[in-house]
Order: sequence, then structure tokens, then C-alpha cells
Amino acid sequence: MPTAVLALATMLAAVSPALAQEAGDRLAPEIATAAKQPKLATARQFMVVAAHPLAAEAGRAILASGGNAIDAMVAVQLVLGLVEPQSSGLGGGAFLVYRDKASGIITTFDGRETAPAAATPDLFLDGSGKPLGFFDAVIGGRSVGTPGTPALLETAHRRFGRLDWASLFEPAIRLAEEGFEVSPRLNAAISAAAESLYRYLPTRDYFLSEEGVPLFAGTRLRNPAYADTLRAIAAEGARAFYQGPIAADIVASVRGADDNPGLLSTGDLAGYQVKEREPICFAYRAYEICGIGPPSSGTLTVGQILGLIEPYDIAGHGPESPESWRLVGEASRLAFADREAYMADSDFVTMPRGLLNRDYLKERSKLLAGARALPAEAVRPGQPPFDRAMAHPPGLTPELPSTSHFSIVDADGNVVSMTTTIENGFGSRLMVRGFLLNNELTDFSFVPERDGRPVANRVEPGKRPRSSMAPVIVLKDGEPYLVLGSPGGSRIIGFVAQALIAVLDWRMPLDQAMAMPHLVNRFGVFEIEAGTPAEQLAPALEALGYEIGLAEMSSGLNAIRLADGVIEGAADPRREGVALGQ
Ligand code: GLU
Repeated sequence: MPTAVLALATMLAAVSPALAQEAGDRLAPEIATAAKQPKLATARQFMVVAAHPLAAEAGRAILASGGNAIDAMVAVQLVLGLVEPQSSGLGGGAFLVYRDKASGIITTFDGRETAPAAATPDLFLDGSGKPLGFFDAVIGGRSVGTPGTPALLETAHRRFGRLDWASLFEPAIRLAEEGFEVSPRLNAAISAAAESLYRYLPTRDYFLSEEGVPLFAGTRLRNPAYADTLRAIAAEGARAFYQGPIAADIVASVRGADDNPGLLSTGDLAGYQVKEREPICFAYRAYEICGIGPPSSGTLTVGQILGLIEPYDIAGHGPESPESWRLVGEASRLAFADREAYMADSDFVTMPRGLLNRDYLKERSKLLAGARALPAEAVRPGQPPFDRAMAHPPGLTPELPSTSHFSIVDADGNVVSMTTTIENGFGSRLMVRGFLLNNELTDFSFVPERDGRPVANRVEPGKRPRSSMAPVIVLKDGEPYLVLGSPGGSRIIGFVAQALIAVLDWRMPLDQAMAMPHLVNRFGVFEIEAGTPAEQLAPALEALGYEIGLAEMSSGLNAIRLADGVIEGAADPRREGVALGQ
């Protein structure tokens, strides 16, 4: 057997090293142990898969008491904001893809943050016109966009929720008051960010001791300020967040970050609007895959990757063949070229209509017909069917990972797929009334133009930064079959595409599809998940002309599969999540 050929079993055994590495073995040996636990759950009535056991349990309890998937979504998000505060929360944004069983409708809610009205395209340039360093931009007020998550929770609940709004806040309020155990993952995250968390007093007081020592795993942590915030929103609705004293405190914190102040105003908060948008749906083999469109590039780019590989026999080559990865890698490079040229907030930038046009992708897939990596100069944006759109020059968007994804199916068959974020781990590091504020504005391009041509994803007032988040619902014969998404910055696109291929083409069991090592190619370098047997593919891929990079890949694929009356749930073993069903 050629050395580059991997035994699938070996690949699948790779999870715990990857996980241990991601969390830091020195800090959290327990996580590595936990990763060895099987993560597949089966149920008959309903299922919740989320990145923290307490969040999944809150969702399970809501479903068990007669709540629907939207009710559970609210409870899960509110608990995540407490127990996994580094990833998502009230101070951030989210995308929700929802399928309503009764009507058969799939709809999407865009709770993405917006740039302040006072923001200008040079927001992330220094005095001499050079882009700021990533963390110089992130930490402080400059990167904070108007949060969208509270409005998304309320809008989706008003439209589709069943239980009383205030009752959905009870699990999070109770946990915030009684305290919860700091998890090994949270401890590792605090340790990694300790220096920046120390910069702002409310953040330092919550996550660090006076001497700057991170909270230990196992510490019982209470967050009474968060409980008060939740009580206000439970009683008065999202208005309590967007107007009045909470909004005033957010603005004061953003503007008062004296080393890096931001522009957010009370007017920005009062004017925030969730957008309900038509889903983006495309066919892939026997399936239909639906997700959210712009301002996320996630579904469109995943759809392009799958459309480009569809003419090739990925199923036949299988997960152990370098040829499969060449095809997926090349498709991904081409899709990222289109992403950079065309994709941004379509309320501000006219995007081509034909990015998922089947004839366009079929023609473009001929570029994959060779046997080796395409030279960089051949990976150019294509010419999708245009409307009035223009191709834009590449921007500069660093896109580093944090974020959380959860999937829910309720007893009536309603489905939630939601990816939620404050962008970087701990967002801007500014903490107000028990929650962290996002740094989502650094998902804009730091560079507003090149050679006098505007970058599509440049900062503009009121605009939403381009995302990679790709919560999806897959239908088979018109019924939900698979629900998934992941954190991971722009690697989300690779993680989600790979998981879809693993389940739909390679027919891998759900938990193994979540666990298998990642290989991601966005811009030419083939990134292989470090510390996993996938590294054994490196020589074969190198021989095909790729530069190889080993990287930590902290995906958080939390998925549900519905087949033959059984609901399967699987959490990504790289994180602390669980699948809970009944
Ligand atoms: N802010 C990123 C996005 O919207 C997600 C960050 C992450 O996954 O860590 O694409």
C-alpha cells in the first residue's frame, strides 16, 4: 500500500491528539479524555446538539416541556452566552436557518452585526494609510458592530416560538445566579487570551484573579450582571437591550475604550434590524442543501465547491485517496477566488446572480480535469452569469476562529441550524453587564480599495461584514435529512463542505464524519489538521504540486441526521459539546 494512502480507521482515531493540541494538553488533559467518549446519540422524538453540555441540556429541557425548536434555540443561545462566553452571546451576531414543518417553508434570519453609521472605509487603516495589525484592530471599541443576536432571538420567537418568551430565560438566569463550573476549554481559552483580557476592568474582574491568573477549570463561576441583563430582556423584550441603560452602557464601553475607541452610538443600537431572508438552496446529487446567503459567503461558497466536484466520482475515490482531496482542494480554491471577487453584503454590493448557476459551475469544473494542482495564476474568479455586478479586487480580511454552532430538531419535526458568534475568542474583550461585545467589524476588509477599485467587503456605514458562517439544512426527497454547521473563521467553508461530502458521498456514520481530520484549501496552501494521521497525505499532495501547511483546526461541527424514523446527533469531539435527545 502506498504510504500516502490512509486507512480510514487510522484517520478516525485521530481525534484526541487534535483536540488535545487545540486545547493545550498542559492545560486541559480532561478534554482529551472526554474526546474518547463516543459522541453519537440517537433519539425518536427530538435532539439538541450544542457546544456545551449545559446549553444542550437547557434546550433538551425546553423540548421535553413542550417547547419547539425555536423556543429551544433561545434557551440554548442564552446559556451558551454564559458557559461559552468566548464564542457567542448577546453582544454578538448570528445566522439562523429554520425549517417549519407545518408549512414546509425554509427561512433564514440574519442577525449579523452592522457597522456604525459613523464608520468609514478607512476604519482599519492607520494614520499613514496602512492596515492595522489584526489584534490592534480587534481589541477595544473600534471593532464592535451593533449586536444582532438579541433581536434575532426575539424576531424568530415572535414568528415561530410556542412557549412564553420570559420562560425561555429561566435556565440561563438560574445558572448565572447559582454558578456553573468553568470548563477545561474555557480555562484554556482564558489562559490563551489572558493578557488582552487584563486590559479592561470588567473583563479582568470576571475572568482573572487580581494577579491576572485565569479562572481554573472546575471553579464555580457566577454572573449576576448577566442574570440582571437577562431579566430585563425577559420582561421587556429586546428593546431593553437596544434602548435605555444597557444600550447606554454598551456605547460608553465602546467609546470609552481609551486605547482604541469605537464609533457605536445609541442611534445605531436603536435602529438595528434583523433581516429575514430567502434561503439559498442548491441541488447536490440526490439532495437539496439550504442555508443563508449574503452577508454570509458560507452557503454560496460551499455550494460552489460541491457544484464543482459534482461531475467527479468523489464517492468512488473515497476519503483515503489524494485524488479526492485534489478535487475538493481545487474546487475550494476556485470557489474562494469567486468569493473574494464577488461576495459581500448584497444590500450594499451588487452580486452576480449566477454564482450557483449549474451551467456556470459545470463549465468551470473542467478546470479540475487535470491531475495536478493548478498554478496560482490559473485560480482566478470566474464569470458567473452577471446582472449589474462587478468583480472586485481582493481585500484583506484575516478571519481568525472562535464561534459556536448548534442544531435542533423538535418533536414536531421543526429544524433549527444556527451559527452564532462574537467573532474572535472573547470578541473585542470589552464586557458590559455580564456579556462580551463582538469584534465582528474586523470581518470587513482592512483595505478598502486596490488601484482605485473598491473592495467588495470594505467598511461602509450600516453594512454587515462578510461572514463565512454556513449553517445548513439538507433535504432528501423534500424532507430534512441532515443539519449542520461549524465555527472556524473562513475554514468553516471547508469544514462544512467536508462534513457534507463525508455523510452524503462517503456515507460515513455521523460521529465519524464530525471527527475525521480536516484538510482545507482556501488560497493554495493545503492545510492539514496537525497531529492527525491525515498528515500522512502530505507527501502525496506535495507530489501533486501543493504547498502543505499543518494547522490546528478547531471545528465545532454539531450535527443531526434524520433517517428511518431515528434522529442521530453527534457533537464535534474537538470541543466539549454533546448531543442530547429523547
Ligand atoms: N466571524 C466569523 C464569520 O462570521 C466566524 C468566526 C469563527 O468562526 O471563528 O465568518
